[in-house]
Amino acid sequence: MKRPKEIKINRFQLNVLLNDEQKEGFDYILNQNVYCGNCGGVCKQGIEIKEIFLDSLNDIRIEGICKECKGKVARVLEFGENKEFYQKAMEFRKSIDN
Ligand SMILES: [Zn+2]
Repeated sequence: MKRPKEIKINRFQLNVLLNDEQKEGFDYILNQNVYCGNCGGVCKQGIEIKEIFLDSLNDIRIEGICKECKGKVARVLEFGENKEFYQKAMEFRKSIDN
């Protein structure tokens, strides 16, 4: 099966894709579990999201800025491993395709 292409999504679309539990996980990771190369550790103050992507594995990739040092950071959240999320993501792709 052909892999879907990576697409850029907005905050609203992300909210539609995630259920409440996933939203909590998402916030948790972005607030305390993103590594910053500049700080040499996790972003202590969390990150500011700049761009959100749904990648070819239907994982969510975030690009943003470390609030502590303003350095660029990125993090992949492996939602695509969740079958339910994967299906939802595929439906979502169809819905925005036309
Ligand atoms: Zn930093």
